[in-house]
Amino acid sequence: MTEAPLLQVDGLKKYFPVRTGPFGQVTGQVQAVDGVSFALSRGETLSVVGESGCGKSTVGRSILRLTDPTAGEIRLDGERIDTLPPRQLRAVRRRVQVVFQDPFSSLNPRMRVREIIAEPLVNFGLARGRAAITERVAALLDTVRLPGEAMGRFPHEFSGGQRQRICIARALAPGADLIICDEAVSALDVSVKAQIVNLLADLQAKLGLALLFISHDLGVVEHLTHRVAVMYLGRIVELADRASLFGAAHHPYTRALLSAVPLPDPAARRQRIILSGDVPSPIDPPPGCRFHTRCPFAFDRCRSEAPALREVGPGHVSACHLTHEPGEALALPAAATGGA
Ligand code: SF4
Repeated sequence: MTEAPLLQVDGLKKYFPVRTGPFGQVTGQVQAVDGVSFALSRGETLSVVGESGCGKSTVGRSILRLTDPTAGEIRLDGERIDTLPPRQLRAVRRRVQVVFQDPFSSLNPRMRVREIIAEPLVNFGLARGRAAITERVAALLDTVRLPGEAMGRFPHEFSGGQRQRICIARALAPGADLIICDEAVSALDVSVKAQIVNLLADLQAKLGLALLFISHDLGVVEHLTHRVAVMYLGRIVELADRASLFGAAHHPYTRALLSAVPLPDPAARRQRIILSGDVPSPIDPPPGCRFHTRCPFAFDRCRSEAPALREVGPGHVSACHLTHEPGEALALPAAATGGA
């Protein structure tokens, strides 16, 4: 029997009202997330990838209940968490933790590292007494490969990568099942980024954590993730396991994102796809396929009919009207290739 997913998101929508005028009348809705569904198992990493404003962070914030969904269902171990009243969210907050992009602002500069990591231990009643707390904090620092003496220092005494390790230790402290990493390595230098990605991959394998890894950069997630969901203007346009997505992408938007990711072999080349124009406004998304205003392969049907996610391979879904095989080369107009 297949194990039930740890996290199940069904038809998630989050619309933000647009208010204008002196009385703040609602004159529109920002469709930040518009019908997103996916499941995440224990011990699995799912990456949610897309350009800025595609709604990926709002998905994370909805799961964390930092914002209330407009519609849809979110289940943790089968239990609805999107409708839980605030006083019952405590157990969810222990099990679902987050690491944000900016370790500089997410750590209290007036607290020593020991207090920062001890806070969730104390709040959730997981360690009592000074010696027990110190021992637990030291173990968590060791887990993220920081020395025990770090606990007596303040956040400003650490580099960006070290601060992100402190954030990860704090997220691990309450014994979370799921960690949401929201652009957690985006602000770091390339080599530090790789170290933190490797650390997360190791922790995920060692502790059996589920990771929801939110990133604008497909290249970052390649060595960490089991599956990838690509979002565009509030919707998932392609979802596949790592090998299928990186080796045989189907959706033109995924292909465009991939074409910007350098390959390890400098002699190897991907078909370069240059996207024209900006992402349209989520207040008034284009009809039909939301990507049609930038898609070099768009045809009449794309402008009137929204493509549903359909299976294009085992466990691989894509929302595109084209009938090509995943990975199959597509004839591009010259303007979309950047001359490559
Ligand atoms: Fe491009 Fe049409 Fe496919 Fe949308 S449905 S991605 S516009 S070809």
